[in-house]
Amino acid sequence: MTETNIAENFKIVRQQINEAEKKCGRKEGSVKLCAVSKFHPVEEIEEALKCSQILFGENRVQEAYSKFSALKEKGFNNLQLHLIGALQSNKVKKACEISCAIESVDRESLLPEIEKHCSFFNKTMEVFFELHTGEDSKSGFKSEDEILICAEKIASGKFPHVNLTGLMTMAPFTEDEALIRKSFSSLRNLKEKLNVSFPQLPVKELSMGMSGDFKIAIEEGSTIVRIGTSLFGRRDYSGTENQGVNA
Ligand SMILES: *Cc1c(COP(=O)(O)O)cnc(C)c1O
Repeated sequence: MTETNIAENFKIVRQQINEAEKKCGRKEGSVKLCAVSKFHPVEEIEEALKCSQILFGENRVQEAYSKFSALKEKGFNNLQLHLIGALQSNKVKKACEISCAIESVDRESLLPEIEKHCSFFNKTMEVFFELHTGEDSKSGFKSEDEILICAEKIASGKFPHVNLTGLMTMAPFTEDEALIRKSFSSLRNLKEKLNVSFPQLPVKELSMGMSGDFKIAIEEGSTIVRIGTSLFGRRDYSGTENQGVNA
């Protein structure tokens, strides 16, 4: 994909986000754009940086680590990286080193790991709980109850380097708009429950909406849309084993 295309794509997507905000009466700028750069090279991320993009999403720790350390070495220091893919326990340390948020926390056992490494790095991690709301992949907590239990542990002060800032989900890949909407509204309802039960926790973000469904997500209250394909073009999965929908 050429330079002009990426710049043009950012213009189009940002405009579409603004229009969607307006259409449902939300404030302009209330939805953040997370540019999902997985499988795309550093050069293309630099094109995005020229468009003043600072928030990026990556799903594989090793890939993110090499690309974003390279960018840091080049002097890009104000980038924000959100990890959005399934996280193996043995990658938590690297994940904590390079990212400011982990959106794909899907089990309780990650919390003490994140706490340990962030305490070592002397930083606070923004954590999002991922709820499985029906996409084909298996990612995310399977029940709201598990999320409420984890939130309670964070609220009890057990993990001082963990900030529960939001929730994330992926809608099912379907043409059925009602199903997509249902997935997003269930995430919004869970956030409202958390806000009532744990007012001391800063759960404010709803990370939902991808290239194919972000307009619906914005109507349903999304505060962060994670968009890859519409910005960077199709991903080239050749040469990887990781070809599932969550790749
Ligand atoms: C790849 C990915 C995205 C971006 O998907 P597009 O359809 O390319 O916009 C968003 N969220 C997650 C969790 C992803 O893995």
